[in-house]
Amino acid sequence: MKCDFSFEHYRNILELIRENGYNSTFYDENVEGKQIIIRHDVDLDLDAALEISKIESELGMKAVYFIWIGSPFYNIFENRYKNIIKEIIDGGHEIGLHYDETSHKCNSKEELIAYIDKESKILKTYFDIDIKTVSFHRPSSYILDSDLNCGKYINTYSNKFFKDFLYLSDSRGQWRNGCICSKLNKDSAEKIQFLTHPIWWKNRTLTNQERLKEFLQYKLNKMSDDISNNITIYDKKNIVLEETDYEN
Ligand SMILES: [Zn+2]
Ligand SMILES: [Zn+2]
Repeated sequence: MKCDFSFEHYRNILELIRENGYNSTFYDENVEGKQIIIRHDVDLDLDAALEISKIESELGMKAVYFIWIGSPFYNIFENRYKNIIKEIIDGGHEIGLHYDETSHKCNSKEELIAYIDKESKILKTYFDIDIKTVSFHRPSSYILDSDLNCGKYINTYSNKFFKDFLYLSDSRGQWRNGCICSKLNKDSAEKIQFLTHPIWWKNRTLTNQERLKEFLQYKLNKMSDDISNNITIYDKKNIVLEETDYEN
């Protein structure tokens, strides 16, 4: 088994989670014994999120997909992404709010919670779903250290999930202490919060620089297609990114 950020290895990881007796649950479910909460912070790539969600559904597992309504990389109201979010929901997964602290100026905790509520209501109304959980995008030390009670929303950075649970994340396209697959065995932690960022995952092995470049190329092609579909005078050309040497 090769440790990388391929969908194949993601499947291996889920199989290990199952074989080692973990129940995959949402944040508001309390279960006895081994429990894993699979969380995806969707910063950039909803297409990859959909692929990941299909693997989970196939294996009878569930996850929470945190959607960033102000993302510069996808528009949740665009048909393509709206349909992807609906498909993720139909696969049995939950949608949470990915909240960017820099998107609103807040002078108090109450104001912050009011903005979380406001953004959650947009998702709730548009997709006709309940929003129960919030995860913070690039959380400040205030969020990481304050065990913030977000009112009716569960905070994924609350001490319960961030400190009492074993917290394993693929942040920056790397594992801090080795791949999650090396942490899953019969003696592994009883409670785990497993965070991925779908941007790092793909159908094959890529370095994180290759992965980002491929994403950018995809977005360029998509933007070109979208201009072409909306503006008939557009002289469509293939824009190909220059090859760059990513060796450090
Ligand atoms: Zn691994
Ligand atoms: Zn984020």
